[in-house]
Amino acid sequence: MAKDTRAKILYGAEAAEAITQGLIPRAERLAESGTVPCLAILRVGARSDDCSYERAAIRRCGKIGIRVKSIVLPEQTEPEQLERAILELNRDESVHGVLLFLPLPRQLDERYFCRLLAPEKDVDGIGPISMASLYSGSGSGYAPCTAQACVELLKHSGIELEGKRVAIVGRSLVVGRPAALLLMRENATVTLCHSKTRELQQELRRADIIIAAAGKIKAVTADCLSPGQTVIDVGVNLDPVTGRLCGDVDREAAESIAAALSAVPGGVGAVTASILAMHVIEAAEQQTEVVK
Ligand code: NAP
Repeated sequence: MAKDTRAKILYGAEAAEAITQGLIPRAERLAESGTVPCLAILRVGARSDDCSYERAAIRRCGKIGIRVKSIVLPEQTEPEQLERAILELNRDESVHGVLLFLPLPRQLDERYFCRLLAPEKDVDGIGPISMASLYSGSGSGYAPCTAQACVELLKHSGIELEGKRVAIVGRSLVVGRPAALLLMRENATVTLCHSKTRELQQELRRADIIIAAAGKIKAVTADCLSPGQTVIDVGVNLDPVTGRLCGDVDREAAESIAAALSAVPGGVGAVTASILAMHVIEAAEQQTEVVK
């Protein structure tokens, strides 16, 4: 019988479920001690990707016993209005974590609002304290959920990270950079590529693992790939031809060359909401000093 040489598709649902099952008893323990863990989702405007992530987060939190409070402000929100909303959530003792969707509309200074969020409630790692904690590997901050979801998907899929060469395409503060730091913590050797990287194809071909987070259709093509690789496709793009969601990787090429390839949709994205829920539970435990 011919050996199946197509890449194994890595789905996030299993990892998401395993994380969820681990969180349910922790949420119950918090509830028994009088604390219902609570996530506040603060959304300015109605971007479709924000709305679909919000729905996924509400569903996931519901399964675990995390209350979700959604606050929606109009696209034209004035800075003072957003400031008031964040300060109110910072003060609200019943709220343990806050997810503020980025990017914000142009009139709102993103750096200012990321700094304004209370560090102990910054469950998506957007503020300077969380970033410093990720950078130094110490402190109590949280990593951005998508970056952590990439690492969790790899671990859950049984992909060894220690000593492996990982090439990341994209250096954003939300995905590429934090993923690099998290993977270094796992003792991987990381190359961080971006739009000015020379000979991107060679950089990617010699990696054991590729993480594609460029936000560009077919940023990773057949000439970037080599047999045996694991490819994590973080990209969420709309294919102008088919009108369907697609990643950053040429899937046809990756399926025939790589050993494993994450699903799009249903790969990293499926794990992200569970990581968010995990951070909310951790935040609630820390804020109420419940022992795990
Ligand atoms: P971003 O802020 O636009 O950053 C893109 C990065 O990719 C930049 O560092 C850019 O380089 C680099 N880049 C762009 N085109 C490139 C190319 N052709 N070759 C090499 N590098 C290139 O994007 P992001 O927020 O990190 O998001 C990346 C993707 O992940 C998007 O598709 C987004 O929708 C998706 N995403 C998915 C999830 C999920 O849960 N699945 C969550 C968040 C984001 P420069 O720095 O040089 O400009």
